[in-house]
Amino acid sequence: MTDKDASLLVPLVCPRCNGDIEAPSPSRIGLCLNCKTARFMREPSGEYRLVFIEAKKQEGTSNLIYAPFWRVEGSGAVRTDDEKKLRVYQNARPLGPLYIPAFWTPKAANYENITMRYALAPDAIAEDAGATGNVLAGVLNPMNLREIAVLCYLAYLDRLADVTGVEASFTVDEVAYAAVPFLKVGAGWKDGILGLQFPGPYFWGSGPSNMSSQSM
Ligand SMILES: [Zn+2]
Repeated sequence: MTDKDASLLVPLVCPRCNGDIEAPSPSRIGLCLNCKTARFMREPSGEYRLVFIEAKKQEGTSNLIYAPFWRVEGSGAVRTDDEKKLRVYQNARPLGPLYIPAFWTPKAANYENITMRYALAPDAIAEDAGATGNVLAGVLNPMNLREIAVLCYLAYLDRLADVTGVEASFTVDEVAYAAVPFLKVGAGWKDGILGLQFPGPYFWGSGPSNMSSQSM
């Protein structure tokens, strides 16, 4: 599907509050900043809570943008005949919510890294009910999230003990659309929660159009 096709399916008005729906190309996810909801445009009846995450590493708001993530809350389960491995997995620190990048990035290898870092630091991440702002284009289909969550969970287990022959599943309790603050640092980016550094271009697509010093 092209972006043009997708944009034809976007409702212009929020079915919930009659507010404007914003979905600047190439976004496939429409946002209502009024009632804070997100919808995947191919399936606009599916509604997700839009949450803004508090910026803890804030150094002036002029260089702050919000990058969208699907926040998947739930729990993983694992099955293996290897009892030793099973014990290792069962004693592992449970993962917090999985923040799965919904934006385009040339740094696909960082996906797992940032998702895992957030999942291991759930107490560092708080919602900011008062925050609002421009959210970069989101493109990831939420229908794939459970599969991606299983892969994240397996990647986590694999750090503890090799997951060859191990089966994992993931039960999703809630999916929300989370706007995570990022700060421009030179030619790169730093996330506004843990201060993780991403040198060089990190965001593809529309990019942060409201910033003067773009590196894309
Ligand atoms: Zn609305």
